[in-house]
Amino acid sequence: MAHHRHFLARMFHLHSVFVAFGFLLLTGITSAQEESDRFEIIKINDQIYVHRDNWHTNLFLITDEGIVVVDPINPEAGENLAQELERMAPGKKLLAIVYSHYHSDHAGGARPLLDVYGDDVPIVANKRTAELLADKNWTSIVPATKLIDPPWSMQAGNLTLEMRHVGPNHSSDMLIAWIPEVKLVYVVDFISNESVGYRDLPGVWLPQYWESIDKVLEWPIEIATFGHGMPGNKKSIEIHAEYWRKLRAAVRDGIADGLNEDEAVETIRMPEYKDWRAYEEWFPMNVRGVYRHEKEVAEAAQ
Ligand SMILES: [Zn+2]
Repeated sequence: MAHHRHFLARMFHLHSVFVAFGFLLLTGITSAQEESDRFEIIKINDQIYVHRDNWHTNLFLITDEGIVVVDPINPEAGENLAQELERMAPGKKLLAIVYSHYHSDHAGGARPLLDVYGDDVPIVANKRTAELLADKNWTSIVPATKLIDPPWSMQAGNLTLEMRHVGPNHSSDMLIAWIPEVKLVYVVDFISNESVGYRDLPGVWLPQYWESIDKVLEWPIEIATFGHGMPGNKKSIEIHAEYWRKLRAAVRDGIADGLNEDEAVETIRMPEYKDWRAYEEWFPMNVRGVYRHEKEVAEAAQ
């Protein structure tokens, strides 16, 4: 490794902090020990990377033809990524910024990138995203300049970036990125790696949320990256789908046993997931969200 670090340092005239950064690039997917630092660049391969800002992650490409950023995350992350891109790909053009969905914690932060690369960089979003943003006044989100009707794809060097929609789930506008050349999926918020669901599933479309996970699993995935959580593979998504199947089954059993909502929240536990992010706080809330859905389904069936 030392040889490479020196090589990078000479090449980019970097001081020690940036030598450490070069080391991160070369080691690829890094271990949890770097998690304490706010920002991190995770290398998937020579052209595909993930930018992490604490618990938020994105996807970006550096190709012969130029750069593509899917989800700038937020203004601080956008600024950090702009700086990293100038170091990693000096002189390269930014071909596009793409939004997965309308939420400001993923779509916020294009502004610092445009400040570096110019206001004429297209910002691509689902046309539904623009509709959802129309009545919001979220200043961190730069309005999209290229509205698309999924599925949509663009070419960047030898990579194809497809944006697909599999129905409403975490939001009604959700786009999933797919790079067929490497069978990579980038999925945000309705699948998060090694994490339980968000609280009691506020604003989530049920049961489409779970159906969306099954639809994504039909793709021939080899690499899976997420809006939250470290990169993984198809198995990471299968494990996530299994979590919901087991939780739904446990809740249905509880309903059949006559548990009310609070009793279900009190008694249902799945300790095999205790190491997942937010298990302590959000798992009981997941039970509540699932209970409300399953109870409604059970009552409708009577
Ligand atoms: Zn979201």
